[in-house]
Amino acid sequence: MANQVRIFQLARKLGLRSEALLTVLEDLGVEDVSAASSIDIETARAAAELLAEQAREARKRAEEEEAARAEAEAEAEAAKAAEAAVEAEEAAATEEVAPEVEETAEEPEVEELPEEIEEEEEVEEEEEEEAEEEGRARYVPAWAAPESLRSLEEQLAELEEELEEEEEEQYVPLPEEARRPRGERPEHAIDVPPVVSVLGHVDHGKTTLLDALRETNVVDGEAGGITQHIGASEVEIDGQTIVFVDTPGHAAFTQMRARGGQVADIVVLVVAADDGVMPQTVEAIGHAKAAGVPIIVAINKIDMPGANPDRVKQDLLEYELVAEDYGGDTIMVPVSALKKENLDELLEMILLVAEVQELWADPEADFTGVVVEAGMDESRGPVATILVRNGDISVGDVVVCGTAYGRVRRLNDWRGKSVKKMGPGHPVEVIGLSDVPEAGQIMTRVENVREAREIVAEREEAIREEEMEGTARASLKDLYRELGELDVKDLNLMLKADVWGSVQALEGSLKELDEQLDEVEINIVSKGVGDINESDVQLAMATDAIILGFHVGASEAARRAAEDEHVELRTYDVIYEAIEDIQAAMVGMLEPVYEERVIGHARVLQIFRISRIGVIAGSVITDGFAQRGADMTVTRDGEVVFEGKLESLKHFDEDVRRIDAPNECGISTSDFRGWQEGDEIEFRAQVEVPRRTSFENVR
Ligand code: GDP
Repeated sequence: MANQVRIFQLARKLGLRSEALLTVLEDLGVEDVSAASSIDIETARAAAELLAEQAREARKRAEEEEAARAEAEAEAEAAKAAEAAVEAEEAAATEEVAPEVEETAEEPEVEELPEEIEEEEEVEEEEEEEAEEEGRARYVPAWAAPESLRSLEEQLAELEEELEEEEEEQYVPLPEEARRPRGERPEHAIDVPPVVSVLGHVDHGKTTLLDALRETNVVDGEAGGITQHIGASEVEIDGQTIVFVDTPGHAAFTQMRARGGQVADIVVLVVAADDGVMPQTVEAIGHAKAAGVPIIVAINKIDMPGANPDRVKQDLLEYELVAEDYGGDTIMVPVSALKKENLDELLEMILLVAEVQELWADPEADFTGVVVEAGMDESRGPVATILVRNGDISVGDVVVCGTAYGRVRRLNDWRGKSVKKMGPGHPVEVIGLSDVPEAGQIMTRVENVREAREIVAEREEAIREEEMEGTARASLKDLYRELGELDVKDLNLMLKADVWGSVQALEGSLKELDEQLDEVEINIVSKGVGDINESDVQLAMATDAIILGFHVGASEAARRAAEDEHVELRTYDVIYEAIEDIQAAMVGMLEPVYEERVIGHARVLQIFRISRIGVIAGSVITDGFAQRGADMTVTRDGEVVFEGKLESLKHFDEDVRRIDAPNECGISTSDFRGWQEGDEIEFRAQVEVPRRTSFENVR
C-alpha cells in the first residue's frame, strides 16, 4: 500500500519497541491496531513528533532531578571542597538542562578544580555517573535514550523516502523497449497496427468479443481459418490491421491487466449493458488510466432484454469516462458480441483512436520483442508469443528473454502458420527457447549461444541476490513472530497454471490478499506451468502446502497421491473463485473472537428455600436464554442488588446447562440468597462473534 508503514517496522526504524509506539499511537487516538497493522505516514510523523516531545520532557525531568540531587549532596560536602564542587555542579546542571534533543548526554567536563581535591573528585564523579545512570533508567524510558532520539527526524525522513521509492516501484513501467518507440520518427520508420487489450468484469463478454472479432476476419476470406491461438490475434478492417492481446481478461488478474494496459496502445473496456459497472470494471479503468492508455468502452449484450446502455454511460460518469453524447470525449460503442452486432463500428473507432497515436516502429533497429503470453507445450517445449516492437526476428536467430534463451527453431504467425521472419508491429509465436519466459519480459537478439548463456548467467545471479534480500525480509516477520509480537499463521500455497501469465496474475492477487490480513501469511512455496503431477503433490506434502491449479488438470496419479497423503488439491477455471476460497480459508484460520453479549432475561416468580441447597429463585425466562456459568445482574426497582455468576440452573428437578424462553426454571448461586419476587435478571455470556476482516466480500 502506498505511503503506509507497518507499526513494527516503524518502531524498528525509530529504535523503539513496538509496545512503546503502540502506546504513543493510542495517545493519538489510533486504536484497534497491532504491531503488524499499517498506519499512514502522516500518523507515523505525528507519532514520532509526540515521541520526541515526550522524550524531551522525560529527559528534562530526569536532568532537573539529577541536578537537584547533586546540588543537595554537594552542600553536605566539607566546606572547602564543597565550595569548588558546588560551582562545578551548577555549571554542569545548567549545561545539562538544555533541552536540545540533538545533544548527546555527554558528561559535563569538570575542569579547573583545585589540584588537591582532584583525586577525591574523580571517585565522586564515578559514583555520580552510576547514580545518574540509575536516575536515567528510572525516569527516562528506554526509547527516549538520546541515541534513538538524536536522529528521529532524520530516520523519519529516510522512511518517507523509502516509502516514496516503494510507491514508485509499484508502478514500474515496462522497460523502454517494451513501449512504443518515442521521439523523432526516423525516415525509414513504418506505421504499425495498434495493440488492443480487452478488459472488463467477469462474464461481461470479453472472450466472446475476442472470438467474434477474430471470426470477422475469417469470414472476410481467410481460408483455412485459425489452426491454433497464439495469445494474440490480428483483425483486419478496411485494409488496416489491429492486434488484440488475448489476455485472460478476468478482472482479478490485476497484474496481467496492468501489464496488458502497458503493452497495449488502447484498452477496450467491455461493460455488459444488462449488468452495468461492476467492481472489476472499476479496477480495469484504474489500470488503464495508470498506464495512460486511452479507453474505448464496448457496451456489450445490447441484445439482452434488460440491456440499458444509458445506465452504463451514467455509471461511467463517476469514473470520468464521459460519453460523447453526454458532452465528453470517451468513445462508447454499443455492441453484441454474441450476435456480432456493431463490431465493425467498434473496430473503426479503434482505428480512429490509433490514428491520433501515430504509431510507428523502426524496422532497421535492433530486434526487440515483448512477451505477451508463454507456456509449456508438451510436444513443442517452451512456447512464447511476442509482439515484435522493433527490427525483426528470423528462424535461426539466437535470442535471450529473461533467463530463457535459445536458437529460434520455428516462428508461427497469429494464425499458427509457420513463417521465416516477422517484422515490427506483429505478434509471433517463438519456439526453441530453453525455458518458459514470463509475460512482459523483453526478448532481444544476441550473436551466439555462448553470449546468450553469459547474459542468462548474469541475470540468474542478480535474481539470486534479490531472492536473498527477500529472504532477509521474510525472516524479519519470522523474528517478530518468534518474539511473540505477531501471532502469524502460515498458509502455504503451490500455484500451477496453464501459462506463466496466469501464475503471475494469481500470485499478484494473492499478494494483495496477504497484505489485507496481518494474522495470516500467504507463502507461495512453488509455482509452475502445466498440469499438476505426482511430484507436485510430494512437494506440497513436504511444504505443507495447498495446491491451487488454474486452467490445468491433475493427473490421475496426482489425484490419488493427494488423496492418500491428505494434500489439498484444488483446481479452478475462474480466478475469482480461487481468490474467494483462499479468503475464506484465511478467515477460517483466524483465532475466534469472543465478546460479552446479553443472552437473555428472566423474572423471578417465586422463592424456594430448601435447607440442603439454599435459596432458589423460581423464574421465567422472558427472552433469550439462561446458561450455567453466565454472568448475571439482578435488579430490583431499577437498582442492582446482585452481580455474579449463575451457578445452578434447574428445569423442574433436573440440572440443565441451558434453558430458553419462555420456560420456567430454578436459578441459584451460593453468593446471593436475598432473592425477592419480581426481581429482574439479565444474563450475559462470552459469545463467539464473526471476525471482522478488511475483506470486503467475505460473508
Ligand atoms: P468474459 O468472462 O468477460 O470473458 O465473458 P464471456 O465472453 O465468457 O461471456 C460470458 C457470457 O455472456 C457467455 O455465456 C456469453 O455467451 C455471454 N455473452 C457474451 N456476449 C454476449 C452478448 O453480446 N449478448 C448476450 N446475450 N450474451 C453474451
